[in-house]
Amino acid sequence: NKKFKVTVVGSGNWGSVAAKLLGSNTLKLSSFHDEVRMWVFEETLPSGEKLTDVINRDNENVKYLPGIKLGRNVVADPDLVNAVKDANMLVFVTPHQFMEGICKKLVGKVRSDAEAISLIKGMEVKMEGPCMISSLISELLGINCCVLMGANIANEIAKEMFSEATVGYREHREVAERWVNLFSTTYFIVSAVEDVEGVELCGTLKNVVALAAGFVDGLDMGNNTKAAIMRIGLREMRVFSKLMFSSVKDNTFFESCGVADLITTCLGGRNRKVADAFARNGGKRSFDELEAEMLQGQKLQGVSTAKEVYEVLSKRGWQELFPLFTTVHEISIGRLPPSAIVEYSEHTPNFS
Ligand code: NAD
Ligand code: 13P
Repeated sequence: NKKFKVTVVGSGNWGSVAAKLLGSNTLKLSSFHDEVRMWVFEETLPSGEKLTDVINRDNENVKYLPGIKLGRNVVADPDLVNAVKDANMLVFVTPHQFMEGICKKLVGKVRSDAEAISLIKGMEVKMEGPCMISSLISELLGINCCVLMGANIANEIAKEMFSEATVGYREHREVAERWVNLFSTTYFIVSAVEDVEGVELCGTLKNVVALAAGFVDGLDMGNNTKAAIMRIGLREMRVFSKLMFSSVKDNTFFESCGVADLITTCLGGRNRKVADAFARNGGKRSFDELEAEMLQGQKLQGVSTAKEVYEVLSKRGWQELFPLFTTVHEISIGRLPPSAIVEYSEHTPNFS
Protein backbone atom coordinates (compact mmCIF):
# COMPACT_ATOMS: atom_id res chain seq x y z
CA ASN A 1 0.00 0.00 0.00
CA LYS A 2 3.02 2.31 -0.28
CA LYS A 3 2.04 4.90 -2.84
CA PHE A 4 4.72 7.49 -3.06
CA LYS A 5 8.22 7.11 -4.42
CA VAL A 6 10.71 9.91 -3.86
CA THR A 7 13.61 10.98 -6.09
CA VAL A 8 15.97 13.83 -5.30
CA VAL A 9 17.38 15.54 -8.39
CA GLY A 10 20.68 16.96 -7.18
CA SER A 11 23.37 15.89 -4.72
CA GLY A 12 25.36 18.96 -3.72
CA ASN A 13 25.62 20.20 -0.16
CA TRP A 14 21.89 20.83 0.45
CA GLY A 15 20.81 18.10 -1.98
CA SER A 16 22.70 15.50 0.05
CA VAL A 17 21.29 16.76 3.35
CA ALA A 18 17.77 16.74 1.90
CA ALA A 19 18.25 13.14 0.71
CA LYS A 20 19.45 12.11 4.18
CA LEU A 21 16.49 13.79 5.90
CA LEU A 22 13.98 12.35 3.43
CA GLY A 23 15.53 8.88 3.59
CA SER A 24 15.17 8.83 7.34
CA ASN A 25 11.51 9.88 7.04
CA THR A 26 10.51 7.44 4.28
CA LEU A 27 11.65 4.58 6.54
CA LYS A 28 9.20 5.80 9.20
CA LEU A 29 6.24 6.85 7.04
CA SER A 30 4.03 4.07 5.73
CA SER A 31 2.79 5.85 2.61
CA PHE A 32 6.28 6.30 1.13
CA HIS A 33 8.59 3.70 -0.39
CA ASP A 34 11.72 3.26 1.72
CA GLU A 35 14.19 3.94 -1.07
CA VAL A 36 15.10 7.53 -1.91
CA ARG A 37 16.88 7.77 -5.23
CA MET A 38 19.34 10.64 -5.65
CA TRP A 39 20.54 11.80 -9.05
CA VAL A 40 24.26 12.58 -9.01
CA PHE A 41 25.98 14.75 -11.61
CA GLU A 42 28.77 12.23 -12.07
CA GLU A 43 32.35 13.18 -11.49
CA THR A 44 35.65 11.43 -10.93
CA LEU A 45 37.29 12.01 -7.57
CA PRO A 46 41.06 12.61 -7.20
CA SER A 47 41.29 8.93 -6.11
CA GLY A 48 40.09 7.95 -9.60
CA GLU A 49 36.80 6.60 -8.25
CA LYS A 50 33.37 7.73 -9.44
CA LEU A 51 31.48 9.84 -6.91
CA THR A 52 28.34 7.71 -7.32
CA ASP A 53 30.24 4.49 -6.53
CA VAL A 54 31.72 6.02 -3.39
CA ILE A 55 28.32 7.31 -2.20
CA ASN A 56 26.74 3.89 -2.70
CA ARG A 57 29.63 2.06 -1.03
CA ASP A 58 30.25 4.37 1.94
CA ASN A 59 26.79 5.97 2.23
CA GLU A 60 28.49 9.31 2.25
CA ASN A 61 28.84 12.15 -0.24
CA VAL A 62 32.54 12.59 0.43
CA LYS A 63 32.81 15.64 -1.83
CA TYR A 64 29.78 17.77 -0.92
CA LEU A 65 28.84 16.52 2.57
CA PRO A 66 31.84 14.78 4.11
CA GLY A 67 31.49 13.14 7.51
CA ILE A 68 27.71 12.56 7.36
CA LYS A 69 26.05 9.19 6.65
CA LEU A 70 23.11 9.45 4.28
CA GLY A 71 21.36 6.22 5.25
CA ARG A 72 21.49 2.94 3.34
CA ASN A 73 18.16 3.55 1.62
CA VAL A 74 19.54 6.61 -0.19
CA VAL A 75 20.69 5.27 -3.56
CA ALA A 76 22.89 7.42 -5.82
CA ASP A 77 22.16 7.17 -9.55
CA PRO A 78 24.21 8.95 -12.26
CA ASP A 79 21.49 8.36 -14.90
CA LEU A 80 19.05 11.27 -14.72
CA VAL A 81 16.23 9.67 -16.70
CA ASN A 82 16.52 6.39 -14.81
CA ALA A 83 16.53 8.22 -11.48
CA VAL A 84 13.18 9.91 -12.11
CA LYS A 85 11.31 7.30 -14.11
CA ASP A 86 9.40 5.59 -11.28
CA ALA A 87 9.11 8.55 -8.93
CA ASN A 88 5.87 10.37 -8.24
CA MET A 89 7.48 12.83 -5.81
CA LEU A 90 10.35 14.75 -7.34
CA VAL A 91 12.57 16.98 -5.21
CA PHE A 92 14.68 19.40 -7.27
CA VAL A 93 17.78 20.75 -5.54
CA THR A 94 20.65 21.77 -7.84
CA PRO A 95 22.32 25.15 -8.37
CA HIS A 96 19.77 27.13 -10.36
CA GLN A 97 21.95 27.70 -13.43
CA PHE A 98 21.79 23.99 -14.32
CA MET A 99 18.03 23.59 -14.11
CA GLU A 100 17.02 24.59 -17.62
CA GLY A 101 19.36 21.97 -19.10
CA ILE A 102 18.16 19.35 -16.62
CA CYS A 103 14.48 20.06 -17.32
CA LYS A 104 15.05 19.85 -21.07
CA LYS A 105 16.55 16.37 -20.61
CA LEU A 106 13.52 15.36 -18.54
CA VAL A 107 10.79 16.44 -20.98
CA GLY A 108 8.50 13.44 -21.50
CA LYS A 109 10.49 11.33 -19.01
CA VAL A 110 8.67 11.97 -15.75
CA ARG A 111 5.43 10.32 -14.65
CA SER A 112 2.40 12.38 -15.60
CA ASP A 113 1.04 12.03 -12.05
CA ALA A 114 4.30 13.23 -10.47
CA GLU A 115 4.36 16.13 -8.03
CA ALA A 116 7.46 18.30 -7.78
CA ILE A 117 9.01 20.55 -5.17
CA SER A 118 11.90 22.94 -5.73
CA LEU A 119 14.46 23.68 -2.99
CA ILE A 120 16.39 25.84 -5.48
CA LYS A 121 17.07 29.49 -4.73
CA GLY A 122 17.35 31.35 -8.03
CA MET A 123 15.57 32.37 -11.21
CA GLU A 124 16.02 32.62 -14.97
CA VAL A 125 15.46 35.78 -16.98
CA LYS A 126 13.74 35.36 -20.34
CA MET A 127 12.73 37.93 -22.97
CA GLU A 128 9.27 38.04 -21.38
CA GLY A 129 10.69 38.69 -17.91
CA PRO A 130 11.74 36.64 -14.88
CA CYS A 131 10.90 32.96 -14.74
CA MET A 132 11.03 31.30 -11.33
CA ILE A 133 12.59 27.83 -11.21
CA SER A 134 9.31 26.27 -10.03
CA SER A 135 7.62 27.69 -13.16
CA LEU A 136 10.39 26.33 -15.36
CA ILE A 137 9.78 22.88 -13.88
CA SER A 138 6.00 23.17 -14.17
CA GLU A 139 6.06 24.50 -17.70
CA LEU A 140 8.69 22.19 -19.18
CA LEU A 141 7.59 19.01 -17.41
CA GLY A 142 3.84 19.67 -17.26
CA ILE A 143 3.61 18.94 -13.52
CA ASN A 144 2.61 20.91 -10.44
CA CYS A 145 5.55 22.34 -8.48
CA CYS A 146 5.65 23.54 -4.87
CA VAL A 147 8.72 25.15 -3.26
CA LEU A 148 10.49 24.69 0.07
CA MET A 149 12.71 27.51 1.35
CA GLY A 150 13.86 28.58 4.79
CA ALA A 151 16.70 29.43 7.14
CA ASN A 152 18.42 26.21 6.22
CA ILE A 153 22.21 26.20 6.16
CA ALA A 154 22.68 22.62 5.03
CA ASN A 155 25.63 21.69 7.25
CA GLU A 156 23.60 22.58 10.36
CA ILE A 157 20.59 20.50 9.28
CA ALA A 158 22.99 17.63 8.52
CA LYS A 159 23.85 17.68 12.23
CA GLU A 160 20.14 17.74 13.08
CA MET A 161 20.20 21.16 14.73
CA PHE A 162 16.74 22.69 15.11
CA SER A 163 15.45 24.80 12.22
CA GLU A 164 12.29 25.76 10.35
CA ALA A 165 11.23 25.87 6.71
CA THR A 166 8.33 27.11 4.61
CA VAL A 167 6.54 25.23 1.84
CA GLY A 168 4.91 27.48 -0.76
CA TYR A 169 2.03 26.00 -2.72
CA ARG A 170 -0.60 26.98 -5.26
CA GLU A 171 -4.21 25.85 -4.68
CA HIS A 172 -3.63 22.21 -3.74
CA ARG A 173 -3.47 22.22 0.05
CA GLU A 174 -3.46 18.40 0.23
CA VAL A 175 -0.31 18.22 -1.91
CA ALA A 176 1.40 20.81 0.30
CA GLU A 177 0.44 18.73 3.36
CA ARG A 178 2.03 15.65 1.80
CA TRP A 179 5.30 17.59 1.32
CA VAL A 180 5.13 18.95 4.87
CA ASN A 181 4.63 15.40 6.14
CA LEU A 182 7.54 14.09 4.08
CA PHE A 183 9.97 16.81 5.22
CA SER A 184 8.99 17.28 8.88
CA THR A 185 11.13 15.93 11.70
CA THR A 186 11.50 16.88 15.35
CA TYR A 187 14.42 19.12 14.38
CA PHE A 188 13.00 20.40 11.06
CA ILE A 189 9.67 22.17 11.48
CA VAL A 190 7.85 22.86 8.23
CA SER A 191 4.77 25.02 7.64
CA ALA A 192 2.91 25.79 4.43
CA VAL A 193 1.69 29.05 2.89
CA GLU A 194 -0.33 29.55 -0.28
CA ASP A 195 2.23 31.78 -1.99
CA VAL A 196 4.68 29.95 -4.27
CA GLU A 197 6.14 33.12 -5.80
CA GLY A 198 6.53 34.91 -2.47
CA VAL A 199 8.35 31.98 -0.85
CA GLU A 200 10.56 31.41 -3.89
CA LEU A 201 11.44 35.08 -4.35
CA CYS A 202 12.37 35.35 -0.65
CA GLY A 203 14.82 32.44 -1.01
CA THR A 204 16.18 33.80 -4.27
CA LEU A 205 16.59 37.49 -3.44
CA LYS A 206 18.11 37.08 0.01
CA ASN A 207 21.24 35.72 -1.71
CA VAL A 208 21.77 39.19 -3.23
CA VAL A 209 21.40 40.82 0.19
CA ALA A 210 23.84 38.26 1.63
CA LEU A 211 26.49 39.50 -0.80
CA ALA A 212 25.90 43.04 0.44
CA ALA A 213 26.24 41.80 4.04
CA GLY A 214 29.48 40.07 3.09
CA PHE A 215 30.89 43.28 1.57
CA VAL A 216 30.11 45.11 4.79
CA ASP A 217 31.83 42.39 6.82
CA GLY A 218 34.85 42.45 4.51
CA LEU A 219 35.13 46.20 5.03
CA ASP A 220 34.89 45.74 8.86
CA MET A 221 31.93 48.07 9.04
CA GLY A 222 30.22 46.69 12.14
CA ASN A 223 26.86 45.37 13.20
CA ASN A 224 24.78 48.50 12.80
CA THR A 225 25.84 48.87 9.19
CA LYS A 226 25.13 45.21 8.52
CA ALA A 227 21.69 45.45 10.12
CA ALA A 228 20.93 48.54 8.03
CA ILE A 229 21.95 46.70 4.86
CA MET A 230 19.74 43.74 5.84
CA ARG A 231 16.79 46.04 6.48
CA ILE A 232 17.21 47.89 3.18
CA GLY A 233 17.66 44.55 1.45
CA LEU A 234 14.52 43.06 2.99
CA ARG A 235 12.55 46.08 1.85
CA GLU A 236 13.86 45.74 -1.71
CA MET A 237 13.01 42.02 -1.60
CA ARG A 238 9.43 42.81 -0.68
CA VAL A 239 8.96 45.64 -3.18
CA PHE A 240 10.53 43.65 -6.03
CA SER A 241 8.49 40.53 -5.26
CA LYS A 242 5.22 42.45 -5.16
CA LEU A 243 5.98 44.33 -8.37
CA MET A 244 6.71 41.03 -10.10
CA PHE A 245 3.72 39.13 -8.73
CA SER A 246 0.81 41.03 -7.22
CA SER A 247 -0.28 37.80 -5.48
CA VAL A 248 2.77 37.88 -3.13
CA LYS A 249 1.68 38.20 0.50
CA ASP A 250 3.31 40.44 3.12
CA ASN A 251 3.10 37.71 5.76
CA THR A 252 5.38 35.47 3.72
CA PHE A 253 8.30 37.78 4.60
CA PHE A 254 7.82 36.90 8.28
CA GLU A 255 8.00 33.14 7.68
CA SER A 256 11.20 31.11 7.86
CA CYS A 257 11.69 31.64 4.10
CA GLY A 258 11.73 35.42 4.61
CA VAL A 259 13.38 37.25 7.46
CA ALA A 260 14.83 34.10 9.08
CA ASP A 261 16.60 32.93 5.92
CA LEU A 262 17.86 36.46 5.33
CA ILE A 263 19.40 36.52 8.82
CA THR A 264 21.05 33.10 8.71
CA THR A 265 22.47 33.64 5.23
CA CYS A 266 23.82 37.08 6.12
CA LEU A 267 25.46 35.56 9.22
CA GLY A 268 26.68 32.17 8.08
CA GLY A 269 26.11 31.50 4.38
CA ARG A 270 28.49 30.91 1.49
CA ASN A 271 27.44 34.07 -0.36
CA ARG A 272 28.35 36.13 2.70
CA LYS A 273 31.66 34.34 3.11
CA VAL A 274 32.86 34.78 -0.47
CA ALA A 275 31.64 38.41 -0.65
CA ASP A 276 33.62 39.11 2.54
CA ALA A 277 36.77 37.77 0.84
CA PHE A 278 35.95 39.73 -2.32
CA ALA A 279 35.78 43.00 -0.36
CA ARG A 280 38.93 42.20 1.67
CA ASN A 281 40.76 41.79 -1.64
CA GLY A 282 39.44 45.20 -2.76
CA GLY A 283 37.49 43.53 -5.57
CA LYS A 284 40.76 42.54 -7.28
CA ARG A 285 40.01 38.81 -7.35
CA SER A 286 36.87 37.73 -9.20
CA PHE A 287 33.96 35.89 -7.65
CA ASP A 288 34.59 32.93 -9.98
CA GLU A 289 38.14 32.62 -8.74
CA LEU A 290 37.18 32.97 -5.07
CA GLU A 291 34.26 30.54 -5.44
CA ALA A 292 36.50 27.86 -6.93
CA GLU A 293 39.14 28.37 -4.23
CA MET A 294 36.86 28.67 -1.20
CA LEU A 295 33.91 26.36 -1.94
CA GLN A 296 35.50 23.25 -3.51
CA GLY A 297 32.84 22.67 -6.14
CA GLN A 298 29.89 24.16 -4.29
CA LYS A 299 28.19 27.01 -6.13
CA LEU A 300 27.24 30.57 -5.25
CA GLN A 301 23.78 31.66 -6.32
CA GLY A 302 23.93 35.34 -5.35
CA VAL A 303 26.24 36.69 -8.07
CA SER A 304 24.19 35.32 -10.96
CA THR A 305 20.95 36.26 -9.19
CA ALA A 306 22.19 39.85 -8.80
CA LYS A 307 22.83 39.88 -12.55
CA GLU A 308 19.41 38.41 -13.30
CA VAL A 309 17.68 40.94 -11.04
CA TYR A 310 19.70 43.74 -12.67
CA GLU A 311 18.53 42.61 -16.13
CA VAL A 312 14.92 42.80 -14.98
CA LEU A 313 15.49 46.24 -13.40
CA SER A 314 17.28 47.70 -16.41
CA LYS A 315 14.67 46.43 -18.88
CA ARG A 316 12.02 48.25 -16.85
CA GLY A 317 14.10 51.30 -15.92
CA TRP A 318 13.75 50.49 -12.23
CA GLN A 319 17.42 50.65 -11.12
CA GLU A 320 16.87 53.76 -9.00
CA LEU A 321 14.06 52.08 -7.08
CA PHE A 322 16.46 49.29 -6.04
CA PRO A 323 19.79 50.90 -5.11
CA LEU A 324 21.00 47.93 -3.06
CA PHE A 325 20.26 45.25 -5.67
CA THR A 326 21.75 47.48 -8.41
CA THR A 327 24.89 48.28 -6.41
CA VAL A 328 25.54 44.63 -5.49
CA HIS A 329 25.58 43.73 -9.18
CA GLU A 330 27.82 46.64 -10.11
CA ILE A 331 30.29 45.75 -7.34
CA SER A 332 30.28 42.07 -8.30
CA ILE A 333 31.26 42.85 -11.91
CA GLY A 334 33.92 45.38 -10.84
CA ARG A 335 32.10 48.49 -12.03
CA LEU A 336 32.01 49.91 -8.49
CA PRO A 337 34.32 49.33 -5.50
CA PRO A 338 33.00 47.27 -2.53
CA SER A 339 32.71 50.47 -0.43
CA ALA A 340 29.92 51.62 -2.77
CA ILE A 341 27.59 49.28 -0.88
CA VAL A 342 26.93 51.94 1.75
CA GLU A 343 27.46 55.03 -0.40
CA TYR A 344 24.78 53.97 -2.85
CA SER A 345 22.39 51.80 -0.85
CA GLU A 346 21.59 54.63 1.53
CA HIS A 347 20.06 56.64 -1.33
CA THR A 348 16.84 54.83 -0.82
CA PRO A 349 13.75 55.87 -2.71
CA ASN A 350 10.95 57.60 -0.95
CA PHE A 351 8.51 54.76 -0.42
CA SER A 352 8.25 51.82 1.94
P1 NAD B 1 26.13 22.99 -4.22
O1 NAD B 1 26.34 24.44 -4.04
O2 NAD B 1 26.80 22.07 -3.29
O3 NAD B 1 26.53 22.72 -5.75
C1 NAD B 1 27.24 21.65 -6.21
C2 NAD B 1 26.37 20.70 -7.00
O4 NAD B 1 26.29 21.15 -8.37
C3 NAD B 1 27.00 19.32 -7.04
O5 NAD B 1 26.01 18.34 -6.83
C4 NAD B 1 27.55 19.24 -8.45
O6 NAD B 1 27.61 17.92 -8.94
C5 NAD B 1 26.50 20.01 -9.20
N1 NAD B 1 26.94 20.41 -10.54
C6 NAD B 1 28.13 20.95 -10.90
N2 NAD B 1 28.14 21.13 -12.24
C7 NAD B 1 26.94 20.70 -12.71
C8 NAD B 1 26.35 20.66 -14.01
N3 NAD B 1 27.00 21.10 -15.09
N4 NAD B 1 25.09 20.17 -14.11
C9 NAD B 1 24.40 19.75 -13.04
N5 NAD B 1 24.91 19.77 -11.79
C10 NAD B 1 26.16 20.25 -11.64
O7 NAD B 1 24.55 22.65 -4.25
P2 NAD B 1 23.50 22.76 -3.06
O8 NAD B 1 24.12 23.33 -1.84
O9 NAD B 1 22.82 21.44 -2.96
O10 NAD B 1 22.49 23.89 -3.59
C11 NAD B 1 21.42 23.62 -4.46
C12 NAD B 1 20.36 24.67 -4.27
O11 NAD B 1 19.92 24.66 -2.92
C13 NAD B 1 20.83 26.10 -4.56
O12 NAD B 1 19.82 26.82 -5.23
C14 NAD B 1 21.04 26.69 -3.18
O13 NAD B 1 20.81 28.10 -3.13
C15 NAD B 1 19.96 25.97 -2.39
N6 NAD B 1 20.24 25.89 -0.93
C16 NAD B 1 21.47 25.57 -0.45
C17 NAD B 1 21.67 25.51 0.92
C18 NAD B 1 23.01 25.17 1.52
O14 NAD B 1 23.23 25.46 2.69
N7 NAD B 1 23.91 24.53 0.79
C19 NAD B 1 20.61 25.73 1.78
C20 NAD B 1 19.35 26.03 1.27
C21 NAD B 1 19.19 26.11 -0.12
P1 13P C 1 24.34 30.23 0.93
O1 13P C 1 24.17 29.64 -0.45
O2 13P C 1 24.76 31.66 0.93
O3 13P C 1 25.24 29.36 1.78
O4 13P C 1 22.91 30.21 1.62
C1 13P C 1 22.41 29.00 2.10
C2 13P C 1 20.95 29.12 2.37
O5 13P C 1 20.18 29.32 1.46
C3 13P C 1 20.52 29.00 3.78
O6 13P C 1 19.13 28.94 3.89
